[in-house]
Amino acid sequence: MFQGNKKYIVIFLVLLLWGAALFVVERFSLLHTFPQEEHQEELAQDDNFEEVNVEKVEMFQEEVIPEEEKIPFCGLFPCMDAQDFVDLFNLFERNAHLSFLRKYIFQDELVDNYLRNLAESRGYQQRGFADPKKIIHFENVETYPEVRDAYVRMRNEMMKEGIRLHFVSGYRSSTHQRTLIKNKLMGIQTELIPSGIYDDLIDKMLKVSALPGYSKHHTGYAVDFGCGDDYLVYSFASTNCYEWLSAENFENAKRFGFIPSYPEGGRPQGPDPEPWEFVWVSPDILKNFSPKTLENTEEPLENGL
Ligand SMILES: [Zn+2]
Repeated sequence: MFQGNKKYIVIFLVLLLWGAALFVVERFSLLHTFPQEEHQEELAQDDNFEEVNVEKVEMFQEEVIPEEEKIPFCGLFPCMDAQDFVDLFNLFERNAHLSFLRKYIFQDELVDNYLRNLAESRGYQQRGFADPKKIIHFENVETYPEVRDAYVRMRNEMMKEGIRLHFVSGYRSSTHQRTLIKNKLMGIQTELIPSGIYDDLIDKMLKVSALPGYSKHHTGYAVDFGCGDDYLVYSFASTNCYEWLSAENFENAKRFGFIPSYPEGGRPQGPDPEPWEFVWVSPDILKNFSPKTLENTEEPLENGL
């Protein structure tokens, strides 16, 4: 009885092993060594399925870029507001290897510091100075070769449309700026400046003119423009030059690398808005502009004050 049972158990185990062996052969050996057509099709379908899925994942990832990272375009360039223009130039200036040495104004520390405080309370900031060796003379103005080239190309394009743009003022040294300021403050007793009696007069001057060390013209990248028969910059905002440059978020100016220097709006920079002054930062920087570009604007100047 027991022996009989044992025989059945052995037969059962042999059958079980046989079945397991068949299963293993079918599953691994036969399938891979001699794949049948239907298996090949299955594999091919599997591969396609995987590829399609990868594409779908990639497309999905493109679609889920957060809304705040999408930059709206104004014409060919990302849109910028007044503060963007100001901040971008400040960043550009910081990366432009300029010299940030402090320059004297009247060579009287008490007077100079008093004037600096008045200027800085209006929003003026110390500016970097261009290396004069890199500045070139061009039609009675001074600037960098790349700014001249951009200006000449832009002026020629405007000329074709009957619009006449003039380059009125470019790079200025601290000596040049000092002469302008001294002319405007002629007749006053400079040693009495710290008493405050000239505050109104000085404030009026600071609305249009920077102290030595505080003008963007020191950087070599600032340009004052005139238009047509009018070389006086103060009427520039009502000229067809300004209309051409400023349309569609300054698209035409941007095409040549220029942006407004003291635009209307944004935080106070010192002078009143100056529609005639532009700064050059290159078209490439403007093409690639995004708010992320400006994330490091609050970092201290590398060789600064
Ligand atoms: Zn200017």
